[in-house]
Amino acid sequence: MNKNILVLPGDGIGQEVTASATKVLEFLIEKYSLDFSVTSMDVGGTAYDQYGSPLPEEVLSSAKEADAILFGAVGGPKWDNLDWDVRPENALLTLRKELNLFANLRPAFLFNELSEASPLKKEIIENLDILIVRELTGGIYFGEPRGIVEDKEPNYAFNTMIYNEEEIRRIAKVAFESAQKRNGKLCSVEKANVLEVSKFWRSIVTEMSSDYPDVELSHQLADNTAMQLVLNPKQFDVIVASNLFGDILSDIAATLTGSIGMLPSASLDSSFKGMFEPCHGSAPDIAGKNLANPLAMISSLSMALRYSLNQEKISDKIDEAIKKFIQVGHRTIDISTDDNYLMTSDVAEKIIKIINND
Ligand code: NAD
Repeated sequence: MNKNILVLPGDGIGQEVTASATKVLEFLIEKYSLDFSVTSMDVGGTAYDQYGSPLPEEVLSSAKEADAILFGAVGGPKWDNLDWDVRPENALLTLRKELNLFANLRPAFLFNELSEASPLKKEIIENLDILIVRELTGGIYFGEPRGIVEDKEPNYAFNTMIYNEEEIRRIAKVAFESAQKRNGKLCSVEKANVLEVSKFWRSIVTEMSSDYPDVELSHQLADNTAMQLVLNPKQFDVIVASNLFGDILSDIAATLTGSIGMLPSASLDSSFKGMFEPCHGSAPDIAGKNLANPLAMISSLSMALRYSLNQEKISDKIDEAIKKFIQVGHRTIDISTDDNYLMTSDVAEKIIKIINND
């Protein structure tokens, strides 16, 4: 069955890392005779410069048609002073909202060969492999009413943290099912000791757990989870959290593994169509220098094949190739301990060679 893949490179190193992932994708299409069509379009600052919008209408409608979107990164100092509605980052938030990508999956795993890059001790971090499932389109980031009131004494500002039952059920379902495919443990994170919305969240997740007898469910308060991620991260398998708590916890988890250039993410809708992107930004400091590590993007391609394109075996092949790439000692600048490192454009070829020799 033909599948549409839309590539949105975006800005800065987004261009370079998506070029690498596209090279791997084209190789896979050829090798495994995949019935995929691949289209590339401008988004972010690059689109703003050309069309006056970071997300032209045509791009949004192509995104709605796509089975999977490979998104590089957007933003950069050149566009920092634009109004919010034309800022590159707005394209990303609009895509998430318009495509109803409510489930953000952020794996945080360590390649043991890179344990030196982690700020934590080797014995705490070795073999780390956790998945954070963050709710992405609700909660306090989108809750109404919200605002800043500047004509009162004293002035004030406010936001609304709100979740309805359906929103909690659909993200919890993704989390329970992810735990079933992994090590069968799910930790639901909230602040049920102080927030009504968290109490409600906890009661629904608890009620749902009877449908997943093979998953061991626990609950943790978000402040404790932040601490536990640093003290004993290996206690976790899958963590599920609201938009706000998931945002903070997934950044902590990403930091544990040492390099942001290694970590992929998936944002899915209820039919598992989705957008796949590295956790890093457009890295203006190294953009255009062929220095970026494209593995997070290549790993995001692997997630696209697994979750949206029904190609689990090929996804496994990419994951194994990345592991081997690291094991044999290949390094990019961000994970190298000396001056011996590969350029961005060399990485895809090495990955392709490893897959071909398997
Ligand atoms: P960043 O992730 O772009 O960079 C942080 C640091 O990590 C930099 O030193 C960078 O060189 C390094 N780095 C990041 N990715 C790397 C890679 N693949 N290989 C090697 N080194 C890498 O974060 P930032 O500097 O805070 O943001 C830069 C721009 O990116 C801003 O405009 C920001 O708004 C945007 N941003 C976009 C996204 C996104 O598109 N999803 C996410 C975060 C930031």
